[in-house]
Amino acid sequence: MLSVTEARERILSHFQTTAEGNIPLIECANRVLAMDVTAAHDLPLFDNSSMDGFAIRAVDYSTAAASKVTLSVVADIPAGSVPTVTLAQGQAARIMTGAQLPEGADAVIPVEDTDFNDRSANTVAPQTVSFTRVVKVGENVRPRGMDLHAGEVVLQKGRRLKPQDLGLLAMLGVGRVQVHKKPRVALLSSGDELLEVDAPLTAGKIHDSNSYALAALIENAGADILRLGVAQDNRESVESLLQKAVNENADLIVSSAGVSVGAFDFVKEVIEANGKLDFWRVNMRPGKPLAFGEYRGRPFFGLPGNPVSAFVGFEIFVRPVLERLSGQLDGIRFTVKVRCAEEIESDGRESYLRAKIRIEDGIRIATLTGHQGSGNLLSLVQADALLIIPAGVKCVPVGQEVEAILL
Ligand code: AMP
Ligand code: MG
Repeated sequence: MLSVTEARERILSHFQTTAEGNIPLIECANRVLAMDVTAAHDLPLFDNSSMDGFAIRAVDYSTAAASKVTLSVVADIPAGSVPTVTLAQGQAARIMTGAQLPEGADAVIPVEDTDFNDRSANTVAPQTVSFTRVVKVGENVRPRGMDLHAGEVVLQKGRRLKPQDLGLLAMLGVGRVQVHKKPRVALLSSGDELLEVDAPLTAGKIHDSNSYALAALIENAGADILRLGVAQDNRESVESLLQKAVNENADLIVSSAGVSVGAFDFVKEVIEANGKLDFWRVNMRPGKPLAFGEYRGRPFFGLPGNPVSAFVGFEIFVRPVLERLSGQLDGIRFTVKVRCAEEIESDGRESYLRAKIRIEDGIRIATLTGHQGSGNLLSLVQADALLIIPAGVKCVPVGQEVEAILL
């Protein structure tokens, strides 16, 4: 039997990523950078004010006590304008947040700390401004290069772009970037018992739930989804859906059910006739049987049919593939340590158990969310985490710490 790590390594060795150039920033959310991004200029690019107020020469009265200072206002500097004055002793300039500091200024006193309180729109600057507090040199000034300098690498290749990354790229005037291709995943369910979610249930039938949960997981992993629907348990139906995946250029086919040793498992037969399929017994629970192969050159994953097994199989095997395909290098799935509130028995396979987490005195305490049958989707819905019980462990005593994947 393969260990989870061995199975994952074997699978991953079949995949590599492709880069695409010059993609507009607006299309890059959640995609992975294929280049290091170096800042072409400093940020901020010029000394500017972090407040609406008056730019002054604090250096001239930095030692003065809190006696009243009155300055003549010689300029008005809205954001986006270029100051043309140089402040001399005794002078100030009204300035707005983000506006460039005039020459000679070294601090900004906020408008609310002065005698000029009129902040309604379009008011003209006053002739003079007074204040009574000490202003420190540098106060409310964001100097050039305070955040970063030209030439610094600000985002690295392999990073999945977050909203704030897009903001930073725009700040630096980077309108197009090289990213990795977004994987395209074809998804199908299989089984004569499966009905669409809006079809009325009839005797012996159930709703197809895997294609909803798995579709959301695929999108959440940053891939495009091609929903193929449900294949019936016959050769023609399976073949026509798989062919659609090929025609529509899927990078990966993910199927659930139909690959066990059941008598009506046509998925297996069709794939074997048009590619190849390996059946792996992976030392894990849930989801021991895993099928991996290819259909007409397209990599194929056969996840188990039971909803919890399909979910766990996705998280453990398919998500890492999607990370690899999409070029992600920072794709470590963080685990946390949790303390078991109850004794947990295991059968020696690497087990992923559904648990609810509460925090007591700063410690995460885990309680299982009910019976761990692989069809019990409610127990996954109620769970905050999957506890990882390592291979070889038969019993975890109360109070012991284990690793957990937060859901
Ligand atoms: P199989 O792998 O075909 O033997 O299916 C294993 C179990 O998973 C059976 O109870 C199926 O009814 C169930 N199952 C298979 N596919 C789905 C699906 N798409 N949604 C919900 N349950 C499913
Ligand atoms: Mg079936």
